Amino acid sequence: MCSVVREIWMSVHLEAPIAAESPVLAVRELRTSFLSGGEWRSVVKGISFDVNPRETVALVGESGSGKSVTALSIMRLIEQGQGRLSGQVELEGRDLLALPDKSMQQVRGRDVAMIFQEPMTSLNPVLKIGFQIGEALVRHRGMSRAAAEAEALRLLERVRIPSAKERLADFPHRLSGGMRQRVMIAMALACRPKLLIADEPTTALDVTIQAQILELIRMLQEEEGMSVLFITHDMGVVAEIADKVVVMFRGDVVETGPTEKIFSAASHPYTRALMAAVP
Ligand code: ADP
Ligand code: MG
Repeated sequence: MCSVVREIWMSVHLEAPIAAESPVLAVRELRTSFLSGGEWRSVVKGISFDVNPRETVALVGESGSGKSVTALSIMRLIEQGQGRLSGQVELEGRDLLALPDKSMQQVRGRDVAMIFQEPMTSLNPVLKIGFQIGEALVRHRGMSRAAAEAEALRLLERVRIPSAKERLADFPHRLSGGMRQRVMIAMALACRPKLLIADEPTTALDVTIQAQILELIRMLQEEEGMSVLFITHDMGVVAEIADKVVVMFRGDVVETGPTEKIFSAASHPYTRALMAAVP
């Protein structure tokens, strides 16, 4: 770039007011209802929150408060006919609830990844790890089989699985719970998501393994520039990982704030009760 052009470029870019970054995910008045005994019962009752770029947001609340249903609603994985969704779920400004099914399938594979408490439910027990990661790469990134194999190894190394090369040829049951969760994270990374939704991904793991998985998610989040919606009922995990906390209580969001503020000066009685339960 010649110097004059460069100066003009710099002045335009440096003097432009820094716009507030728009959220990666904006959930607005999201309501999810299920048919029960002939009546629609709302379990998520018109909630709103944002996940900003590179932010880790913890969605917390006691068991049954609607956290998993919220995650499934964002991914539109609530079965049609059985559940009803309304409101907006905007991913970089695009309302996912208004997308045709086909586009939504692409969003699931490419833009938003999800990991769950029990990775065995998402891994196919009769297919080797390498093949499963390869499938995700072929399907969502359009890679050739050969390129996908090499990339699968790189991803397993990226999530720090010991003896990654040998693991490619293993079936899921040969791996420990922590290793399986690493495989799920590798598969999530395969689609280079803008947003990772993690629904209690460490709850079923031993405390030391839990800490390692949290550390991994934190590292990847920084290095890949992902945004993370991290669902947990464990306030210790929240303190470790979250920038911001969204507190759910019986299907409503009762409080949202930066993690320090939630820990030092929670305003809602339910949040205070939740904090009091932290050892
Ligand atoms: P959390 O993840 O916070 O523990 P959930 O989101 O799993 O809670 O559940 C919230 C409420 O929604 C619970 O009362 C649960 O029984 C109900 N629920 C979840 N899935 C369904 C479904 N498919 N049909 C009917 N009710 C459901
Ligand atoms: Mg849940």
